[in-house]
Amino acid sequence: MIKLKGIAAASGISVGPAYKIGKEELVIPKLEIRTDEIALQIQLFEEALIKTRKEIIDLQKRISSEMGQEEAQIFDAHLLVLEDRMLIEEVISRLKKDRLNVAYIFSEVLKKYIAVFSKIEDEYLKERTADINDVGKRILRNLLGKERIALGDLKEKVIVVAHDLSPSDTAAMHKKSVGGFVTDIGGKTSHTAIMAKSLEIPAVVGVEDVTSKIKPGDILIVDGTMGIVIVDPDEETLRHYQQEEVKFRGVAEKFLAAKDLIAVTLDGKTVEISGNIELPEEVPAVKQHGGQGIGLYRTEFFYMNRKDFPTEEEHFQAYKYVAEAMKPYPVIIRTIDLGGDKFLSHLEMPHEMQPFLGWRAIRFCLARPDIFKLQLRAILRASVYGKLKLMYPMISGVEELQQANVILEEAKGELKAKGLPFNNDIEVGAMIEVPSAAMTADILAKEADFFSIGTNDLIQYSLAVDRVNEKVAYLYEPAHPAVLRLIKNVIDSAHKAKIKVGMCGEMAGEPGFALILLGLGLDEFSMPPQMIPEIKYLIRAVTLKQAEMVAYKVLELSTGKEVDEYSQSKLREILK
Ligand code: PEP
Ligand code: MG
Repeated sequence: MIKLKGIAAASGISVGPAYKIGKEELVIPKLEIRTDEIALQIQLFEEALIKTRKEIIDLQKRISSEMGQEEAQIFDAHLLVLEDRMLIEEVISRLKKDRLNVAYIFSEVLKKYIAVFSKIEDEYLKERTADINDVGKRILRNLLGKERIALGDLKEKVIVVAHDLSPSDTAAMHKKSVGGFVTDIGGKTSHTAIMAKSLEIPAVVGVEDVTSKIKPGDILIVDGTMGIVIVDPDEETLRHYQQEEVKFRGVAEKFLAAKDLIAVTLDGKTVEISGNIELPEEVPAVKQHGGQGIGLYRTEFFYMNRKDFPTEEEHFQAYKYVAEAMKPYPVIIRTIDLGGDKFLSHLEMPHEMQPFLGWRAIRFCLARPDIFKLQLRAILRASVYGKLKLMYPMISGVEELQQANVILEEAKGELKAKGLPFNNDIEVGAMIEVPSAAMTADILAKEADFFSIGTNDLIQYSLAVDRVNEKVAYLYEPAHPAVLRLIKNVIDSAHKAKIKVGMCGEMAGEPGFALILLGLGLDEFSMPPQMIPEIKYLIRAVTLKQAEMVAYKVLELSTGKEVDEYSQSKLREILK
């Protein structure tokens, strides 16, 4: 029996035989062609593009009806690759010049594109490499007349093991034949992981080298909740996980039944459960999962898929849409959080030795009031269309909060001068994601209307663990006593000052931690939409008193591991 640890990408447990998918290596012949064959090669290329387009549209239709429009939209990027004039023209002109078969020419052009895109330091464009790769392989298969193994057609229920899976491979999986999947690479927020979550297929990604450790047919346990893969389990482990699997399934149905109910504990304490979004298109997912608001709208993604800055009008339209769509629920718009691991290719930002400690988020905004104020004006203008709030990321001390508010007042003044309506009393919050802010929460609370704790960053800063570095991922512990003490200080300080405190880091959507956070007094929990039903169910299954006891107990423990074990055991008792 071997136990492997990876990144928990989609929760759930599954047991089954391994079904290995090799790296898809297409053999592409290099053939010289005659001048009179050029037209035929161009025709072959066009036919392959048309066939690929049809395949993607069919897939998109299926996904749209089975999973919803939002997931289907991932394939819009694939369709755009098919329409890329530069790519098509380069293939045709090289075909004429080099006089080689179109499959070979296309594969060369594709390689060049992928190399260029993967070097770009813009996370969004980097991610597009996967789209180009995925759609490029489809075109090549169609040029060579080869079919991809149909993952949808598997006869028995298997665990798919692959170096990597493209979003379209994942989307083609059927829950009835694919019990789970495991990959060598990938992160929690890759498109593939997002798809797995939507399909509700347990998945563990980033299990380095897993493909070399597993043989086809090996019995595997995939624990997508804990990010664990067990190869060749012994009898006892197998039995344990089989029971867990059955339990998980039953429990998942229970969760869904709670999604439209309010999040109130058995002894009457109500909290807010809301969703995190990156783009306005994600609003329906929040509503479908029963979200009572948006606790984090990460607006920097708005800047990422483009070559220029969005105009004030574009910002305004997006925020107005989200405000209206979520009405009467609140929407917290976070002002741009560029820098760190989020860069724009068209904006000159210096290369820094430690970008997460550098010129990012509010620091960038205060240095570029032109960019900042434009966004603030748009948020203010949209504030009359719903219940909008705004918050600043990466506040490290009270001066930053005061300086940001000065710019906000200027933005208000400009709108007043133009006679444009806005909510003058819009609530302004501070994200608490830097230890210095957590330690001085009492001071910040005097200047903020609310707090939202950003644990994704708070953990990396307080434990000195780079959140994107796989090598130190084992040290990234949300339950570390230092993190819990900081969180407690923030909540207590906020309550003393009579302001509300939420959390929009991933920790809020993890059941074991949510139980502790409830006990610590957190007022609002914001999370990936798919997690909302489960957290709502949990809140409705406990008393505040029970949660307080758990919080009290874990604050006395010495390590993150002990906290995890304790909260998980309590969680199991509660969800029994
Ligand atoms: C956080 O840091 O917890 C957070 C929610 O912000 P982001 O993940 O966008 O840095
Ligand atoms: Mg953050």
